[in-house]
Amino acid sequence: MVVLGSTGSIGRNTLFIAKKFGLKVDALCANKNSELLNRQIEEFSPKFVAIGDETKKHEVNHPNVFGGSNGILEMIDAAYEEGAVLVNALVGMAGLAPTLKALEKGYKVALANKESLVIAGEFLDISRIVPIDSEHFGLWYLLGGRKPAKFILTASGGAFRDVSLDKLKYAKIEEALNHPNWQMGKKITIDSATMVNKLFEILEARWLFDSHEIDAIIETKSIIHALLQFTDGSMTAHLANADMKLPIAFALLGETDEQILSPVNLLEIKNIEFRDIDLARYPAWQLRELLLRKSYLGVVLNAANEVAVKLFLDNKIPFTDIVPYALKAVKEFENTHASSLDELFMIDKEVRAFCAKI
Ligand code: NDP
Repeated sequence: MVVLGSTGSIGRNTLFIAKKFGLKVDALCANKNSELLNRQIEEFSPKFVAIGDETKKHEVNHPNVFGGSNGILEMIDAAYEEGAVLVNALVGMAGLAPTLKALEKGYKVALANKESLVIAGEFLDISRIVPIDSEHFGLWYLLGGRKPAKFILTASGGAFRDVSLDKLKYAKIEEALNHPNWQMGKKITIDSATMVNKLFEILEARWLFDSHEIDAIIETKSIIHALLQFTDGSMTAHLANADMKLPIAFALLGETDEQILSPVNLLEIKNIEFRDIDLARYPAWQLRELLLRKSYLGVVLNAANEVAVKLFLDNKIPFTDIVPYALKAVKEFENTHASSLDELFMIDKEVRAFCAKI
């Protein structure tokens, strides 16, 4: 097994599962956190290691260290063995080239980097991808070979779901990073607060389940992760405690009968609250229908969002300015449809250049 992003939230949970089930870890990769990477090297003795930030290469205690984004691709090449699994838990566009390389080599890809599917869903071999995302795991768990009329994802509503709308403009970075239900990396936590994460997941589901009948609803406790609606009027729901170890374990092991999490205690939960995704609070949500119709716009949404989230985290724009970047970019590039991967990478660059002028 190869773990990209091993020092992050998904990466650390992946190594926890690897240890619990005695899975062999052949390669590790991080960006800057050489200290934690070194501890992981000691614990898992991988054959290969890569670090995204080349300037940190000398800090890594290993004889076989690859550096930089090309180095990560070289490591994926070097570490391949028949039947190998690659966990891609990198963040954003940086995860796409590794996903492409892993599929080209023949890995089974356990994909947390949902941006790969958002950007390039129509160019990826879905048959060799297993998602590491609680909602998509929930949908898969419920499906059991049946054909639903609708796939429904749940959203937590993120850090600002209960904050009055007039205060959103003044939201501080640390407040936006304070997710009510999940402990996750910075980027996805901000994407949850803007609801862009749910747009990503709509696209992820669109490619994974080859359907356009996908919607989402807020469930404030993140106990229900997904629902299926059937033509006969039945609905089924997937419940589990909010912990990524469960989707990770299934992505790595397939079916498992071992206990991964403690079961949901319904009497402790007492009640579950559903809310509509309100456009005044989550203006990004107006893109849902367009994205389902023109799913090739995922590259535009991702690039604009990546630029805007970085500006917010660098304290250069207020929280409420993040989503307008995506709205403007999608309007500008609405009919730009890449016909190849090269064109896709070019569009990503053009969108970033467009956003730099906003
Ligand atoms: P984190 O920010 O916690 O971790 C990101 C990891 O990727 C770190 O190991 C980081 O290294 C590494 N990394 C980031 N950029 C690069 C780069 N350019 N080159 C090499 N390594 C890099 O993110 P998460 O674990 O939260 O998220 C990972 C992915 O999983 C995202 O796509 C997210 O949307 C998705 N996801 C996350 C969930 C969660 O619960 N966290 C749930 C579902 C999906 P370093 O530590 O050195 O900076």
